[in-house]
Amino acid sequence: MARIVMKFGGTSMAGIERIRNVANRVKHEVDLGNEVAVVVSAMSGETDRLVNFCREASPLYDPREYDVVVASGEQVTSGLLAIVLQSLGVKARSWLGWQLPIRTSDAHASARIETINSEAIGKAMAAGEVAVIPGFQGMTVDDRVTTLGRGGSDTSAVAVAAAMKADRCDIYTDVDGVYTTDPRIVPKARKLAKVTYEEMLELASVGAKVLQTRSVGLAMKERVRVQVLSSFDQPTDNPTPGTMIVGEDEIEGTTMERQLITGIAYDKNETKVTLTAVPDRPGAVASIFAPLADANINVDMIVQNVAHDTGSTDVTFTVPTAELARSLDVLERERGTIGYERLIHDTNVAKISVVGVGMRSHAGVASKMFDALAARGINVLAITTSEIKVSVLINEDYTELAVRVLHTAYGLDAEDAA
Ligand code: ADP
Ligand code: ASP
Ligand code: MG
Repeated sequence: MARIVMKFGGTSMAGIERIRNVANRVKHEVDLGNEVAVVVSAMSGETDRLVNFCREASPLYDPREYDVVVASGEQVTSGLLAIVLQSLGVKARSWLGWQLPIRTSDAHASARIETINSEAIGKAMAAGEVAVIPGFQGMTVDDRVTTLGRGGSDTSAVAVAAAMKADRCDIYTDVDGVYTTDPRIVPKARKLAKVTYEEMLELASVGAKVLQTRSVGLAMKERVRVQVLSSFDQPTDNPTPGTMIVGEDEIEGTTMERQLITGIAYDKNETKVTLTAVPDRPGAVASIFAPLADANINVDMIVQNVAHDTGSTDVTFTVPTAELARSLDVLERERGTIGYERLIHDTNVAKISVVGVGMRSHAGVASKMFDALAARGINVLAITTSEIKVSVLINEDYTELAVRVLHTAYGLDAEDAA
């Protein structure tokens, strides 16, 4: 007997037929004698629909009320799954974030899980009842509803698995594992049997949305055994293996170790913002980024251009497109203090990143990337690097082309693909 947390994403929960398929999978694990808790997402498209309602209501919406609105999608699917499980003769009940409770920080719309009261789930499990927990949601110490940021149900699942000391956290989604890049845009992408926490963390943080970044960070810290699987394969005693997220020690000696680049990711959700003619003096950049940080806006790539003869410089950076309205609002309010001339933004950009621990010991990864993009006439607008990652900002129209070209350039294409 094992203690398992199963998480089902939006596509897997989209409609009663699919929820029935999910319920059958859960029943399968219960029938094997396992103790099971399930974490569910809203039906696919539902969270987008709810977010759009908020934007339509007011572009500068109160994030506390946004959370009340967007958390509702998961409430619906958790109740529906409990109903369907019961109809199959499986004991089940839903536990909303505030009922457990799952306590989070008060950073609305991107709250961090602080504690999970595991008592109720533990009792349910011991009594053979499946606890169905809506992902993505929690509650502050002041009893206000929070959400964990887009894709946050993965983090809910890992947090529940850590709190319950589960043997496994199985993330069921609409692909059968983690690939070298998004298999929906590169048919030649290869499935990875294993990927290290560190590489998965980096891949997720640069856009590989198959797992939310925070879920990987938490799994790494708590050593939760996370596995990514397809919810559409038939459950059997030996399900098709997906991808295991493992420590570096578990990967030694395999061919993975020799792979220079593990994967390539893209992110179309960033906007490029440029402030022109910012005075070139100490404290100038602080006057831009401090108020953005105070507003909880995550700035990613930053480029400070060459100073003009006039003693001023252009500063370019990226912010999440979802935070654009708030970013522009902050920057316009701070115009007097910063002293820039023009505020320009461009949403038609994408960030392409190559990730791999092999980079630590190999030079030339970045130059190969620039050469491959240049050969296709793709212009690089900004660059950032870390020990195991190189990212470039390009025109969004070239996203798919850039990812495919780099996938081939780094030798990642599957051998059996056409
Ligand atoms: P869920 O609703 O189950 O949480 P998501 O849409 O959040 O699913 O994540 C699954 C999607 O992630 C896949 O459909 C795929 O298009 C995308 N994806 C991006 N990069 C990768 C990758 N490297 N490996 C697998 N899937 C990826
Ligand atoms: N429903 C939320 C979203 O779409 C959370 C999740 O699915 O993980 O972002
Ligand atoms: Mg997801």
